[in-house]
Amino acid sequence: MHVDCLIIGQGISGTLLSWFLHKEGKTFLVIDNNKVDSSSKVAAGIINPITGRRYVTTWMIDEVMPFAIDTYRSLESYLQASFVYEKSIIDFFPSPQMLNAFVDRIAENDTYLHSYPNQNQFNQYFNYDFGCGEIRPSYSIHLPLLLELWKQKLNEWNAIKEEEFLLDDLQISDDHASYHDITAGKVIFCDGVDAATNSWFRLLPFAPNKGEAMIIEAEELYNGHIFKRGVMLVPLPTPGLFWVGSNYQWEFADDKPSEHFYKQTSNLLQNWIKVPFKIVDHKAAIRPATVERRPFVGFHPHFPVIGILNGMGTKGTSLAPFFAHQLIQHLVYDLPIADEANVHRFTRILSRETGKGSS
Ligand SMILES: Cc1cc2nc3c(=O)[nH]c(=O)nc-3n(C[C@H](O)[C@H](O)[C@H](O)COP(=O)(O)OP(=O)(O)OC[C@H]3O[C@@H](n4cnc5c(N)ncnc54)[C@H](O)[C@@H]3O)c2cc1C
Repeated sequence: MHVDCLIIGQGISGTLLSWFLHKEGKTFLVIDNNKVDSSSKVAAGIINPITGRRYVTTWMIDEVMPFAIDTYRSLESYLQASFVYEKSIIDFFPSPQMLNAFVDRIAENDTYLHSYPNQNQFNQYFNYDFGCGEIRPSYSIHLPLLLELWKQKLNEWNAIKEEEFLLDDLQISDDHASYHDITAGKVIFCDGVDAATNSWFRLLPFAPNKGEAMIIEAEELYNGHIFKRGVMLVPLPTPGLFWVGSNYQWEFADDKPSEHFYKQTSNLLQNWIKVPFKIVDHKAAIRPATVERRPFVGFHPHFPVIGILNGMGTKGTSLAPFFAHQLIQHLVYDLPIADEANVHRFTRILSRETGKGSS
């Protein structure tokens, strides 16, 4: 079997890469090991134009957010399903200082921050002492549904193998790669945090970090917004269910849900939510984050048959559509990849290792 492109991993990166290859009429095969708790399956899929306690505008958001929404909407109509939810974020200020920081940023005329007219609107659902503001537009994309439906489509086309990809069995030459009975013009790794140990790309400055989330059932809770107070509370498509998370752990012993997060978050919820709720699930995953908080996109500077779409960190939902498209436009039309994302910025680092399986 010969394909234009072999894709390793079907998280949000591999899904969108194969979507754009499909749109260009290219042939491809995806290999994915169906890991239950991959980052994409545990994520809330929030697209938030504002980052951090200083209310900074998210990197490239003016470009990537509209592009991401267009992409997900096209996928919705192609797959005849709904997984895009436009919901503004109601940010409950944890302190007067945060309230002031928000007001100051609005005064600077930030596009995405808005004062909220009725400060008592959420009194029946939440305890909050210092008021709230609104971040808009913002979205949540229900990634598990998108991934599952795309997998079904790939299965229909015989374009996915649900198995472990064995790096040692990959052979590359100047113009193609071979893996078992498959030959491919390119192999593109969308293998998430596994790339940090993948011998082709492990020298890249990955900074994997663990995040945890819980699913709660709260039938009386209002689901018209995403709510934030230390954690995000995101309505899920099933009425009464909400995603709650997350935290950022730079040092961790495993990728499993921890008792510490469970206790801390259930205490927080007890103090915050006024209506009855119960915790029905608790998950954890490792985010493929990077030291400079910029993705890794492009082809290996010394082995151009090998490519990468990774390093999405905390922002895969908004970044992956834009950079998957950019990578395919580069592959098909030789258009440039943004310097800040292009893996060629690490040409010297990547020359220290030649990867496994080269012939
Ligand atoms: C708790 C939590 C909350 C998050 N919330 C958000 C959010 O609200 N918004 C947002 O934008 N981002 C969020 N993120 C980050 C987001 O999940 C990531 O940026 C994104 O999912 C990364 O996608 P990916 O496809 O690059 O990697 P992954 O999702 O890790 O996908 C990699 C795929 O490759 C497969 N794979 C790996 N190795 C092999 C192999 N050898 N053989 C076969 N298959 C293999 C894996 O099984 C997996 O399916 C969150 C992350 C966590 C953990």
